[in-house]
Amino acid sequence: MMKILTVLGARPQFIKAAAFSRAVHRSSTIEEIIVHTGQHYDQNMSDVFFEEMDIPKPKYMLQTGGKSHGAMTGQQLEKIEEILLIEKPDMVLVYGDTNSTLAGAMAAVKLHIPIAHIESGLRSFNRRMPEEINRILTDQISDYLFVPSLGAKENLLREGICEDKIFVVGDIMYDVALYYKEKMVKPVWFDALNLGEFVLCTIHRAENTDDIEKLTSIFKGLELSQKHIILPLHPRTVGKIKQYGLIIPSNITVVDPTGYLEMVWLEVHSELIVTDSGGVQKEAYFHNKLCITLREETEWVELVSNGYNVLVGSNTDLINSALINELPNKISIKDIYGNGNTSENIVRVLEMKL
Ligand code: UDP
Repeated sequence: MMKILTVLGARPQFIKAAAFSRAVHRSSTIEEIIVHTGQHYDQNMSDVFFEEMDIPKPKYMLQTGGKSHGAMTGQQLEKIEEILLIEKPDMVLVYGDTNSTLAGAMAAVKLHIPIAHIESGLRSFNRRMPEEINRILTDQISDYLFVPSLGAKENLLREGICEDKIFVVGDIMYDVALYYKEKMVKPVWFDALNLGEFVLCTIHRAENTDDIEKLTSIFKGLELSQKHIILPLHPRTVGKIKQYGLIIPSNITVVDPTGYLEMVWLEVHSELIVTDSGGVQKEAYFHNKLCITLREETEWVELVSNGYNVLVGSNTDLINSALINELPNKISIKDIYGNGNTSENIVRVLEMKL
């Protein structure tokens, strides 16, 4: 029996874990225990996903949220090391690009425990993004690098990572999108809005929220379009809007962050999607929606080169014109990120290494 210790901490990681943990459950040779770092801790940023997506309960629940990057990562490193010394797993598994990802990987490497990194190899080539630093460092010390696309593999090869460690398995979020589409749920508040067509929007990247001019410029672009916009708002963005004293334009309906099943319903029923989220850009594609991305660059370059995603940054005019002028392409290529069996592919690789 191989014992894997998975480190989770933030919303997108809970969502990815839903697919992998289900595949592990079917394996007779792998046992998984989960450490939750508490990086995201609100009911609607954490608990709701464990409840509605049947993610196994974490064995260890840490409280490292709400701190600066350094303090958070440092505390996570210290506490995860203590747990690794108790649990002595055969492997540590981390997802994506948060502080919890990096802390989990750093704690493991110093104890000579092999590391598996899911959603490896993505690069924005913008080192001012905290996520970019977390990705580069985690990839450098990982042993099993599970990448969603050939482009991600090339990024790793360029950084000198040995090809034997890289496995092109597809994107695990596609597994999740396919599985939960069957179970999507209309938000209870939706009918009362009486909207007709609507655009779904999310905003939470630090580069947008931590800059009053950028955030103001984004809201102006959304306002100019006069489209009905539903905006489930991340706690970081709520805090910044209050701090800056911004007024939300009247064509935007702000709601609390939703559970995943409601989010899928909103994605599937939206006219199009505007976001600065990594995961939501892909979900737009999985659910056949065109995406306007509120960033200057993206890790999901294949969506841009195929015309399914347009980068507008925080530019008011670009946001408005992308919203009011239909994007050029309809989505026709469906397998850019694999076939939705990524978690099975990963389990197969790990089982072969037993
Ligand atoms: N999501 C959600 N409810 C929301 C907003 C996002 O369930 O109100 C989901 C979304 O469907 C996607 C994931 O959260 O699966 C993306 O996480 P986030 O945008 O926080 O992080 P990123 O993907 O940018 O790392």
